Amino acid sequence: MALTPAEAFDKYVRENSEFVTRDGLRIPVFRGRQHLTELHREDLRSLLANLQNGFNEALAQRKKVPEHLDDLPFYLDYIDSDFSNAVAFRDDSSAFIGITVPLVYELLKICDLLSDSEPIRRILGLENTQELRDWLNIVLFQHLLSLVVTHEFTHHVHGHVLKHQSQSKFFSEFVAGNQNTNIERQAEEADADGYAAYHVLANFIDGGTRKNISAVLKLDSALPDVVDQVLFSCFVIVAGAFLFSRPPVDLTKEDLFGLSHPPQAARLDYLMRHSILWCKENRPSLVDWMTNDRFQQTMRAVAEATWGMNGGLNWDAQTTFLRSERGEKYLQELSRLIDAQKAALRASADASFQEAQGDVESLQSQRFFRTFFQAASSSRIGHGLREYIEQRNGGYFIKGTRISLDSVVYAFLRGESPEGIAESFPDLSLEEIFGALAFYMANRKIIDHYLAEGRLEFEALRQQARRDNPVLYSKLADARHRTHMPKA
Ligand SMILES: [Zn+2]
Repeated sequence: MALTPAEAFDKYVRENSEFVTRDGLRIPVFRGRQHLTELHREDLRSLLANLQNGFNEALAQRKKVPEHLDDLPFYLDYIDSDFSNAVAFRDDSSAFIGITVPLVYELLKICDLLSDSEPIRRILGLENTQELRDWLNIVLFQHLLSLVVTHEFTHHVHGHVLKHQSQSKFFSEFVAGNQNTNIERQAEEADADGYAAYHVLANFIDGGTRKNISAVLKLDSALPDVVDQVLFSCFVIVAGAFLFSRPPVDLTKEDLFGLSHPPQAARLDYLMRHSILWCKENRPSLVDWMTNDRFQQTMRAVAEATWGMNGGLNWDAQTTFLRSERGEKYLQELSRLIDAQKAALRASADASFQEAQGDVESLQSQRFFRTFFQAASSSRIGHGLREYIEQRNGGYFIKGTRISLDSVVYAFLRGESPEGIAESFPDLSLEEIFGALAFYMANRKIIDHYLAEGRLEFEALRQQARRDNPVLYSKLADARHRTHMPKA
């Protein structure tokens, strides 16, 4: 009997769960399809289920575009993993898009930070009320997730997945190394970014979502130009935040041509070029409105808001590099390859290519974004988020107490359960302990570094804890979206 798309998705992910490093190490990165019923938070379960339905409905309704290859039925689902990633892959029956649960949490966290930021709200001209912050959170999350999904969609319809299938099992965003990367691969990534920008702008500024967003952000009586500006800014903000929050590429150390994706600054450059192209065709007034000064100001606000994640580290170095002679050459080569790939796509489709506009229509189902919007709105993701940790005197503490985060994390790493930790710290509630550990999980890189300073036993303990307590680890991974990174 034929497998359902969900079963086929799960089977493929399980059978190809290992990531092989360049040194031949095999690391299991995916555990299979994520059953949403196993997730910790009920409102998140329904949000993710609704988003999945919305996307799958839209993907099923998309129009046939002559330039598009690989026209299998689409299926989107979530992947159980400890790592943030989005992947595109296919078997004989379906074109799959997979999003890991940690990536969903990461995107939610980015949107929390952005919607809590005063400079961001000022750029958008929004008042500082809880209601507007919550809605902004949702609106940004919609933009961000749509950007990721349409990026993966592009890897399918522009034939990237099919072309490389013999070399790699997944078209993978963040876990590089299992593919022989080269600048041609980078050109495909830039192409996916550019095309995704087209989709998101078309759907949010022109599509059915516009009206809904105007209503919740209280822009009903605003002039159409102002609504355009707010929506365009939302897009620029999430594009910047997404790239800022990824681990930075240090171009002085990395081999530029061996990267799986172009450096973030180049990606942002390419995304913006495409956005401007879309505006020229559809909203010429936005081209003049988004001055260089305005763009820089927006990016500064984004960098400041997301500073706790990776905060645009090495960003200046990247920008400087791309302005150098070697950088210019690289960007030229990248553009040349993107154009060549597009030309090949058009030739193979044997059809007249209506510059991008025809493509955009393929996903421009108003119903899609309306479903999506309702799904996101119904769960009010901005509510109920709390901070459990604060920074004082150069250390991390459980908020409002004299108990350090170190002591809780160390107890956890020694193998104590949260309930056991609660017994050792009668002043802390179980919720606070979960909150502290979830904070640790969400910011592990930073906190590990902080703890490891001067403590050699730390790494051994950390490894041990993971082996001893996989169930708790996955529970904490579920809970980690509940925490905010304190703004240092
Ligand atoms: Zn990609």
